Amino acid sequence: MMQKVSSQQAMELENEYGCHNYHPLPVVLERGEGVFVYDCEGERYYDFLSAYSAVNQGHCHPRIINAMIEQTKKLTLTSRAFYNDKLGQAEKYVCEYFGYDKALFMNSGAEANESAIKIVRKWGYLKKNIPDNEAVIVAVERNFHGRTTTIISASTDEQATKNFGPFMPGFQVIAYDDLAALDEALANPNVAGLWIEPIQGEAGVYLPQDGYLKKAQELCKKHNVILMMDEIQTGVARTGAMLASDHEGVHPDMLILGKAISGGTIPVSLVLCNDDIMDVIHPGEHGSTYGGNPLAAVVTVEALQVIKDEKLVENSNAMGEVFRGRMQQLVEKSKLATLVRGKGLMNALVINDTEDSSTAWDICVSLKENGLIAKPTHGNIIRFTPPLIITEEQMNECCDIIERVVLEFESAMVEE
Ligand SMILES: *Cc1c(COP(=O)(O)O)cnc(C)c1O
Repeated sequence: MMQKVSSQQAMELENEYGCHNYHPLPVVLERGEGVFVYDCEGERYYDFLSAYSAVNQGHCHPRIINAMIEQTKKLTLTSRAFYNDKLGQAEKYVCEYFGYDKALFMNSGAEANESAIKIVRKWGYLKKNIPDNEAVIVAVERNFHGRTTTIISASTDEQATKNFGPFMPGFQVIAYDDLAALDEALANPNVAGLWIEPIQGEAGVYLPQDGYLKKAQELCKKHNVILMMDEIQTGVARTGAMLASDHEGVHPDMLILGKAISGGTIPVSLVLCNDDIMDVIHPGEHGSTYGGNPLAAVVTVEALQVIKDEKLVENSNAMGEVFRGRMQQLVEKSKLATLVRGKGLMNALVINDTEDSSTAWDICVSLKENGLIAKPTHGNIIRFTPPLIITEEQMNECCDIIERVVLEFESAMVEE
């Protein structure tokens, strides 16, 4: 059915027949292996996006792919109308892996967040005695939790919200990284949950001040509010710890995962919490046709085991140090690259330009021409999130490329 196409043809087809909901960098990927992806003409690129951190284990990881192939030959989907032989084992595995009593498997990250919202609201009515339909979930500015109508109701990003109303009530959005605002908001007895990312990924890799998460957890305890941690992007070794929450020794009441828990194979997401919270959900009240399918169960266990077996937490941490060290040197001699920030292998380079300028985009196009793909997030910020299996030699080669391209840009700008 499918034919060999050129990069040009592939781009034309997407432009003509696909919804224009993305603005892709002009590169057409045909194959991936480890830290590399290849275009239709066979050009090789270092992948410094990793599908928004879904491919932490590297492209087409042989163990994950093999587990997937073996399971696809046996059974892929039963629906939860019946038991399957893999789901319970996967639930036990993820509960022990992350330290919770119960797991709910869903598919996309947005769907896991939607599920989390429902569970938390219901907990609020049953366990906190919030009056009917008055539960509030507190979110923070610049959050990114997905694209559904409910989720964007808590968004402060105009691009994500404009002309998509009416919006879902029941969210209060407060300033990020502001403990006084948090204490005040959580004091409202109708607040059931605090919904945050430990590091804001889509917003441009914003880190809170040290101690914010720990203090937020204390405030949640004080006000009897569920701490809902969206670690869909930061989780699974991305930030140099298994969870970004671990950096502050925080064990959230509710953990929301997606992206890399399936190593970039099929969409799998998870909500984890203890019995006192998860037990509010009864048969028939929530579900998903594909959620908890045996293929997802097998793939998730293998993808998470790879993280441990290949010591990707340690490598993420070590390679992050190399990256930020090299980028810090660049920042010191560059007027164009002004700041590097991040943790582990979740980093961003800030380009000294306005948010609506095309400089960061142009740099990314040039990086692509030099064999490395990355994308700007919010205008002048370039996010760098390579697969966590990257070696030190590869990392240094990539830093050479980034440094060369940024300095070339800078001298070209001076000449203008
Ligand atoms: C990507 C992401 C989501 C949404 O996941 P989808 O699978 O795209 O629905 C939610 N929260 C965070 C923090 C994310 O990075």
